[in-house]
Amino acid sequence: MKNLPLHWKIIIGMFLGIFFGLGLSFFPSGKIFISNFIKPFGTIFINLLKLIAIPLILVSLIKGVSDLKDISKLSKMGGRTIVTYMFTTVIAVIIGLVLVNLIKPGNSISNETRQELIEAYSSNTEEKREAANKQKSAGPLQALEDIVPDNVFKSFTSNKNMLQVIFFALFFGIGMILLPEKKVSPVKEFIDSLNTIILKLIDLIMLSAPYGVFALLATLVVEAPSLELFAALGLYSITLLVGLTLMILVYAIIVKLLTGKPPGEFFKGIAPAQLLAFSTSSSAATLPVTMECVEKNLGINKEVSSFVLPIGATINMDGTSLYQGVAAVFIAQAFGLDLDLSSQLGIILTATLASIGTAAVPSAGIVMLVIVLAQAGIPEAGLALIFAVDRPLDMCRTIVNVTGDAAVSTIVNKSLGNK
Ligand code: ASP
Repeated sequence: MKNLPLHWKIIIGMFLGIFFGLGLSFFPSGKIFISNFIKPFGTIFINLLKLIAIPLILVSLIKGVSDLKDISKLSKMGGRTIVTYMFTTVIAVIIGLVLVNLIKPGNSISNETRQELIEAYSSNTEEKREAANKQKSAGPLQALEDIVPDNVFKSFTSNKNMLQVIFFALFFGIGMILLPEKKVSPVKEFIDSLNTIILKLIDLIMLSAPYGVFALLATLVVEAPSLELFAALGLYSITLLVGLTLMILVYAIIVKLLTGKPPGEFFKGIAPAQLLAFSTSSSAATLPVTMECVEKNLGINKEVSSFVLPIGATINMDGTSLYQGVAAVFIAQAFGLDLDLSSQLGIILTATLASIGTAAVPSAGIVMLVIVLAQAGIPEAGLALIFAVDRPLDMCRTIVNVTGDAAVSTIVNKSLGNK
């Protein structure tokens, strides 16, 4: 057991967590026991991962950029990263839209079920709608404005400000590149050493991963809604899962074609990050592990991973954009609305933008879905239709989000002439 690779330990933790949760749900006080004594360990594990996210991004990005030596390499890497991210996101929405139009899962929802779901989840819909409205009321350049903080210490106080931290780290790193080596070497050494310490902390946190995912999954099982609702949304869930699987295949193909890396090696290397993405439903919480996996297991240059992955965790969400496409059309179908080609093209655009704006935390995708629905003229009340199954699907789309970031990091790494 001691020498078992980490991803196997995580898988075992996941299964034991599911069985434990299922077992205890037969006892009247099982749920209370899990919420009181098991759930806190899951929360502590996620907190540990989140705790390290801002220091990690800050230090590794400053280190990555300042190691580059010249600015042109940075702009080359930046350009390639953004273009590849956009490309994979658009492919993801298109896959989602094609599938949902072929399978038409919304047509199988009866009026009765629709009413039942809307009644059961209308208060959650209201909550998400309010959250989305806050985002929507901003001007077109608000997102850009938000990236530049007026006080960097304020940015460090919330994980939601990841893009501001990225901005500051890039800016600081650029300042370092532009100065003569001698002048910046003390800071460079300090940052290098800080980086080593942070990586050690991540190793330590990962030792608790199998126990953390055990607690997370046991909690999830006892808190899950009824099986009947799951069944009503079966075809929608299957459509989405097929789409997400296809997207994983797309990564396998592009990684093989563009980098020559065999898919087996790629997936084996990032398995711990994928498992953690599934258990935590958060690409931000998974980020430290994604970075470690691509560097240690796939041999990606640190300069590349420390630049591409934090940006990816915040702006590249292929699983989320695919889901937004499928969910929007599913809701339209369930309400008997016919979406013409131009509305579907509109969905490609808004789902791409909405996925960029989606925070890398659980359920963020469904908040941004409100914006996609509003843009396409689909009733927002329809959100209630998909609530029951959103968490498990969120877990799956987060795997795709994280896999996409890792795939792009290997592609950018190769394109810059690294092995
Ligand atoms: N949970 C997803 C993530 O962190 C975002 C979403 O809700 O789609 O990547």
